[in-house]
Amino acid sequence: MHPMTDPFPATLIARVDRATPDPELMALAGQIIRQGGLVAFPTETVYGLGANALDAAAVARIFQAKERPASDPVIVHIHSLAQLDEVAVDVPPVAFTLAEQFWAGALTLVLPRHPAVPPGISAGRATVAVRMPAHPVAQALLQAAGVPIGAPSANRFSRPSPTSAAHVMADLNGRVDVVLDGGSTDIGIESTIVDLTGPVPQVLRPGGIPLEALRPLLPALAYRPQYLPDDVASAPAPGTLLKHYSPQADVLVFQGSDPLRVLEAMHQTADKYVAEGHSVGILAQDSDALHFRGLEVQIVLCGRDEAAFATHLFAGLRTLDAVPVQKILVRAPQPVGLGLAVQDRLIRAAEGHIIQVR
Ligand code: AMP
Ligand code: MG
Repeated sequence: MHPMTDPFPATLIARVDRATPDPELMALAGQIIRQGGLVAFPTETVYGLGANALDAAAVARIFQAKERPASDPVIVHIHSLAQLDEVAVDVPPVAFTLAEQFWAGALTLVLPRHPAVPPGISAGRATVAVRMPAHPVAQALLQAAGVPIGAPSANRFSRPSPTSAAHVMADLNGRVDVVLDGGSTDIGIESTIVDLTGPVPQVLRPGGIPLEALRPLLPALAYRPQYLPDDVASAPAPGTLLKHYSPQADVLVFQGSDPLRVLEAMHQTADKYVAEGHSVGILAQDSDALHFRGLEVQIVLCGRDEAAFATHLFAGLRTLDAVPVQKILVRAPQPVGLGLAVQDRLIRAAEGHIIQVR
């Protein structure tokens, strides 16, 4: 393996026992990171595509592998609070309060960037997004590497995020040196990102930590959802593009306060598409499945509540793509708890195709 010289060497897939990652394997993966290579690894949110965050050339390879525009910054992962000093400066006291409660975990903080962190990781911004992941394999990799690891989700740009090693291979086979296969991820959607560099703390992306959990510590927390058209250069904040997390099929998101009316509208739409000769998939909460009985549709169940929906969302989109279906219909969960982040991902997966049912 020559991660330094070959831009796209063969990919090694290594199974890892998540409870007790093999030290020799982790040492090898850590060495590949230090040599400038790419290692995909499980976190509690989704799989990450990791490189040495302090090595500008290694970071550039992340963008190359993902075909990600350079304007979209990458989150830096650390194993301990001691490592925070290596990547951020002028850390405000509230960051430590948040870290105490939510790290290790699915919260990313945007802070002033340390000069040792190459600007390319942050799309040239003076800030850096930092997270301490809780997953034992992510922790072991960070310990073995001994350097902070820059890692976006390990998917091709604008595809659904990967929640298993198979998803990573489907998108990045041959573009990453090693995939550490630690099974399916738990939370299934990305971290919540909070920017602490402005006048008020601002949510840049809802995610694995619900806003309700943050508000007691951040009463002024602001959240203004942004869904921008497909023009990366003009995006005022990174990661706010409308098209993201998209499967091949067209996604239609149904919203409304009365679940029965929403389900009725979905049923009618599915019926119409089937009559027109389209193949149709439905991503359904368990309790909704009965409403689609008798329809010639492919149903993927997403569990009983918002948290289960988050866990199964991206895998469900990929499963329906593999059938394949041409249309995916889905009822958005209520925007409470993890439901807010699920709704955000659905709106982007649907590229704004929302049907409001009154
Ligand atoms: P991903 O790593 O694929 O989960 O996406 C990372 C996202 O983190 C980006 O799309 C941005 O929304 C956000 N992000 C990372 N770094 C910064 C930063 N320095 N400032 C603002 N947002 C950031
Ligand atoms: Mg991503």
